[in-house]
Parts: sequence; C-alpha cells; structure tokens
Amino acid sequence: MSTHKHYTGLIDRYKDRLPVSASTRIISLNEGNTPLIQLQNIPRLLGKDVNIYVKFEGLNPTGSFKDRGMTMAVTKAVEEGSQAIICASTGNTSASAAAYAARAGIKAFVLIPDGKIALGKLAQTLMYNATIIQINGNFDQGMELVKEVAEHAPVTIVNSINPYRIDGQKTAAFEIVDDLGFAPDYHCLPVGNAGNITAYWKGYTEYARDRVCGNRPIMCGYQAAGAAPFVAGHKIDNPETIATAIRIGNPQSWDYAWAAQQESGGWFDKFTDAEILAAQKLLSQQEGIFCEPASATSLAGAMRDIASGKIPEGSTIVCTLTGMGLKDPDTAISQCAAAHPVTIEANLDAVKRAILDTL
Ligand SMILES: *Cc1c(COP(=O)(O)O)cnc(C)c1O
Repeated sequence: MSTHKHYTGLIDRYKDRLPVSASTRIISLNEGNTPLIQLQNIPRLLGKDVNIYVKFEGLNPTGSFKDRGMTMAVTKAVEEGSQAIICASTGNTSASAAAYAARAGIKAFVLIPDGKIALGKLAQTLMYNATIIQINGNFDQGMELVKEVAEHAPVTIVNSINPYRIDGQKTAAFEIVDDLGFAPDYHCLPVGNAGNITAYWKGYTEYARDRVCGNRPIMCGYQAAGAAPFVAGHKIDNPETIATAIRIGNPQSWDYAWAAQQESGGWFDKFTDAEILAAQKLLSQQEGIFCEPASATSLAGAMRDIASGKIPEGSTIVCTLTGMGLKDPDTAISQCAAAHPVTIEANLDAVKRAILDTL
C-alpha cells in the first residue's frame, strides 16, 4: 500500500502552522510544493565549491510565488464573508488574485500601472476575469489608492500588507528545510515590496524555534539599481527597471525587511538591468531554467557575492526564482539575437546546411 500523502495545496500540508480550522473552506489550486533544483553548470563556471539551489516558484498555478500568499488571503477573506478582493499590482499579484477569486466565486479588482505590466500577466488577469483598473501612475501610487478605497468600499485588500499573505508565503521556507533536511547558509531573494523576504524570515524563524532546523540562513536581499530603496536607505520616488515585478520605491514591509537583514546578519545590494538580464539568460542557457527578469536578481546577487568571497566556499545557498519566464515574453525575445530566425526552403539539403553551419 502506498504511504504517499497527496496534499491538495500548502494549506493542507502545513495547516498546523497556519491560521485555519477544521471547518475552514480552503480555496486552493494545489499551489506550493515547488521544486528545489540544484544548479550544476553555473557553480562550475564560477569555479567555486558551492551548492546553489533554486526554489522555482514559477511553477506555482499562476506562475509566481504570489499564489502561496493568495491561497491564504482568499481563504480567510471568504471565511470572513468578503465578496470582493482588491490589490495594487505590478502584475503577478493581480494574476494570482484574479485566479483565486475565480476559484472562490468572488470578485477581484486590480489596480495596475498603465503600460508597465508584462504581457503574460495581463493575459492571465484578463482570462481569470478580474476587473482591471489601469492607473496613470506606478505601483506605489496604486498601493496608496487601494489602502484608501478599502476604507470606503466592501473589499478585502490582498496585497502583502494582508498578514495572511505573509503566513502563506512563509511555507516556502518550510518546504526548503523539509527538502534539504536543514536550513541553507544563505537565502537570496529579489526584493520589491519586501513581503517575501519578511515571509521567508518568519518561516525559518518558526522552524528554528521549534527545532525543525538548527540554524536560520543569512538573508540577502537584491534589488534593481533604479528601484533600490533598501540600498539607498530611503524611499525612491520614480523607481525604474526592466524587472517590472520589483519596480517599487516605497516597500510596504519596510521595517520587517530591515529586521530580517539585521537579525540574520545579511545585506541588501543592487544590480543594473543589464546584470539582471545577463543572469536570466545565463540561467536559461546553462541550466535550462527560465525565470522572469525580477527573479534572476537573486541569482545575479548570489553569483556576485560568491565570486567576491562574501559568500564563502562550502556554503549552501538557495535562490528564490519568484516567477516564470513566460510571464514576460517581450523582454525575453528582445534580448535574443536569433529572435527573428531566417527562413529556409523546406527541403533536406537546406535543413542539412542550416544544421552543419551552426556546428
Ligand atoms: C512580487 C514579486 C517580487 C517581489 O516580491 P516582494 O514580496 O514584493 O518583495 C519579485 N519577483 C516577482 C516575479 C514577483 O512577482
């Protein structure tokens, strides 16, 4: 007889550590349980003896880690009788909110910055049938508007200022420890609104407190150079980066993220768009793992800090890949020289020549 337990999502798997009861109706799309993939070729290129794992959150139901928080936030919203949810979003939160609202049979309203949302995320949000409110402004302005409107309308905010989001997202840290059998030495994350670094720190702290693991990792938060308030030490007014998921200047989890950095002995750093895209491409070409630009910031950071020795040899490092590469096809295609391949005649000779030419 099989002893395998089939979990129907992260609330089912970690319900003892989440604010649900036996009578809670769980709104789930079987999120979580994402693969922890050990990199094989990039460590060799770096010439360093390190174990780098990527936690591929792009394999969640809507293609980003936002689903971890959303299953909890929507489950609790429904439990509390809410008929509608609302969020500001750079794209992935809106896709996730829209999907879980559809699953629950409630309405979703999403505020997105005009023209600054990746194509895949827009397609998802439209298909899941959320009401899209496009604003002539950026994420930070959308976030302020959402907080104000929630005081005047019967809608539940499902941005990461909703504490249930953080609770759902902390399960990624649980999965990593459960997979490895221990906590990594370093955990590298892209940081935008800073909900995720807050959530991972909460998860590791809970597991360490309960002696599921002996240590907590050093937390490394990486930002885009044009949107790096944690590196600057203050809010940024007009954040800019090609990595739209982290195009945020006024992070809502400001104090929590600083606490994670300080308590873990970690640091923040920033990377140019060119460095972020180079890491995204390297990961695709060397390991066959396609993440979205913002996600690659974690790998860019790990590589720089391994190369400099700030992260020493012998370390086990986990990089969270927050979202899937297909989210942003435009950015991917525009980086590739062979994006517009030449067309040849449909005969054996021509195909043979095309192959022999590249070998
Ligand atoms: C939301 C998001 C981030 C940033 O996470 P925060 O919790 O806002 O710091 C990074 N990458 C992707 C792909 C995201 O969707």
